[in-house]
Amino acid sequence: MNILLVHPKYPTTYWSYKHALKFISKKATNPPLGLLTVASLLPPDWNKKLVDMNVTSLRDKDLLWADYVYISAMSVQMHSVKDVISKCKLLKKKIVAGGPLFTAEFESFKTDVDHLILNEAEITLPHFLDDLQTEHAKKIYHTDEYADITTSPVPDFSLIDVSKYAMLNLQYTRGCPFNCEFCDITALLGHKVRLKTTAQIIDELDNIKKIGWKGPVFFVDDNFIGNKSILKKDLLPAIINWMHKNNNPFIFTTEASINLADDQTLMQMMVQAGFAKVFIGIETPDEASLAECNKFQNNNRDLVQSVKAIQSAGMEVMAGFIVGFDHDTPSIFQRQIDFIQKSGIISAMVGLLNAPRKTQLYKRLMHEGRITNDWSGDNTNYSLNFIPVMNKQELLNGYQKILHGIYSSKAYYKRIGIFFKNFSPPENLRKKLTFIDIIALFKSMIIIGVFTKSRWYYWELFFWCVFRKPELFPLAITYSIYGYHYRRVFKGIS
Ligand code: SF4
Repeated sequence: MNILLVHPKYPTTYWSYKHALKFISKKATNPPLGLLTVASLLPPDWNKKLVDMNVTSLRDKDLLWADYVYISAMSVQMHSVKDVISKCKLLKKKIVAGGPLFTAEFESFKTDVDHLILNEAEITLPHFLDDLQTEHAKKIYHTDEYADITTSPVPDFSLIDVSKYAMLNLQYTRGCPFNCEFCDITALLGHKVRLKTTAQIIDELDNIKKIGWKGPVFFVDDNFIGNKSILKKDLLPAIINWMHKNNNPFIFTTEASINLADDQTLMQMMVQAGFAKVFIGIETPDEASLAECNKFQNNNRDLVQSVKAIQSAGMEVMAGFIVGFDHDTPSIFQRQIDFIQKSGIISAMVGLLNAPRKTQLYKRLMHEGRITNDWSGDNTNYSLNFIPVMNKQELLNGYQKILHGIYSSKAYYKRIGIFFKNFSPPENLRKKLTFIDIIALFKSMIIIGVFTKSRWYYWELFFWCVFRKPELFPLAITYSIYGYHYRRVFKGIS
């Protein structure tokens, strides 16, 4: 059996980092971990090829080779998914599809896709494979159960060219104990935090090292600290030990909830293990809007202080913010800007509230008759799939004001200064410059330092770091490159 695994293309968004990747000569941020895991679940004697359309194009030749084309995608890849399906139809290829987009929207694909393998593949894929053998494969496979991920296989990284990616990824947990109204993670993966074993994670780290990778590795968990006690007792000590034995080959990034800031020991252990960055859903400084969306873990705390506590422990905080809650008033736009500037969060992803189909928010808004269309999968492209309480144009104008307020060169470089003032990267997290980094430095000196309107800010930061805090110099160049990407994505900001 010849299986072609296809990962559709992402549009250029905040998260694609498309304009930053060219500085380091990479094609995409991460490989498609879901498809690589599916590849490991398929029979070992089947022939498998993977086409990640973010790093290479999908050729007719590849499709003609395949007996089945497996597609996995998220909502934001919808446009490309439709193209892939059309191509398959034209060449009369059988399509098998799964992943978050198809699980949420399977009704829309019932006609075009031959087999929909929904929910978690560890449960549904084996049923499909059994039925395929007896030539009784059904249209839809779904389950209400959640997979035991202690039996999940190591993703098959041999199917990709790792040199095309900026970072590799692995997953420790699935599920989240919280209940944010706008989030579909709990509907897709449940409230119970399921963990892989420490031995599995060490195996995955060994595997990533074995393929010759050094540098950034992303734990793609929705909330890495969902079970703090096992993390502290078991996994982190094992990672610290592994990193020490292997001469610290990786720098980790992950996602966590803000209560990380309350646990000094946990933060210290994460830093010791090599965690340099953590993404946190802050959403809004407005207490009423936090209560509205059930983000109680962020309520009743000084959020700026929480961010500063994590930064002081040695980790950079990236964060997500949302505007468009029912409780938002026109003052929210300036409050978001002030919060982001004050907290020194360089990578602040501000998006418009939208209601993905599986969320509590979607149910509520549908009940209130306010859903207008399906979500595009990108909450930064000025689209809304519901009728907001605030006047829509006022909301969109306010959103644009925030983007200008945090990503204009003046505001952005000022924020880097605020962050750098009190930040010192721990010794083990200091970036060792590679050949690619040096090339990126020269490219930034020309592209940003000569040809952009932010050039004066760039050189000011450049020399401030060289003479005052050289340990921050690699980070300064990285943030300058990120800023270049953000300004190009959010057009019209200089
Ligand atoms: S937004 Fe984050 S914390 Fe909230 S439910 Fe989703 S994954 Fe959990």
